[in-house]
Amino acid sequence: MPGKRNVEADDETIKEVLQKKNTVKRLRGNGDFRSEECIEYLKECDICCTNPPFSLFASLFSLLVKYVNAEYPLRNKKAESLIPADMRFPDILMKRDAAHLLQLILEKICAGNAIVPVSGYRSLKEQSDIWNDSRRENGEDFTRKYVALPNHSEHQTGLAIDLGSNEEEIDFICPDFPYDGICDAFRKAAPDYGFIERYTKDKEAITGIAHEPWHFRYVGYPHSKIMQEKGLSLEEYTHFMKAHSEDKKYHFAQSHGAEIEVYYVPAEDDNTLIEIPENCIHQIYGNNVDGFVVTIWNKV
Ligand SMILES: [Zn+2]
Repeated sequence: MPGKRNVEADDETIKEVLQKKNTVKRLRGNGDFRSEECIEYLKECDICCTNPPFSLFASLFSLLVKYVNAEYPLRNKKAESLIPADMRFPDILMKRDAAHLLQLILEKICAGNAIVPVSGYRSLKEQSDIWNDSRRENGEDFTRKYVALPNHSEHQTGLAIDLGSNEEEIDFICPDFPYDGICDAFRKAAPDYGFIERYTKDKEAITGIAHEPWHFRYVGYPHSKIMQEKGLSLEEYTHFMKAHSEDKKYHFAQSHGAEIEVYYVPAEDDNTLIEIPENCIHQIYGNNVDGFVVTIWNKV
């Protein structure tokens, strides 16, 4: 805020600053957050408020990740992309975009204090400590069932979160997250924001992990939505996508009429060339096995 660095921004302070001359400026262009003008503001700003259409979320987040804090390089890779999953619990971290979307789900379902994060990002050392502590306290069988081996935990990616119903006693390894009430409202809304319930009862044989009603994984939209609609686990979705190469794209229709194309490109030995139509919103990510999944948002 101009002239008010390190001052708590209560309503009075904001009002006072806004009333000064030249504090509020009109944009020259149309205000598209992708425009050069807006990007210049984004590079400078401490807080950014915008309201993009849902279909442009991915584009907005890639801009935010690219430019926010550009002038304040953080000291290590971990801190670069991890932020608190929930401001009430500053030690529980997640990747930046996943954390933002998690908050949007909690707001959408009006969770208030009814749902709390229990465990987010874990370093290799933290995962090893949890494994060893659990083995000591709960025994080998229980630990193999509910705690992933070090280097095999989704929590090490910063994309997984364990959530608990906010009760007096919360179990760190198996928090209560029932299939009714506010917890189930979260479960149902999650795929609209890129999250899936990762280890369901009916997929135990496929995931190789026991049923964990509390563990959610960010996979990104629309993949989460396709998985929900088709009843696929992440393993099955990876397999499903491989059947949709560039000449056999999967078409996902959004409720408001926009269409998203998703397809698989196998990785080549050195460089994989992926051609994307000009001026389209797209996302490319590795499937962690043998190729890339390309997502293209088509305009309505
Ligand atoms: Zn978990």
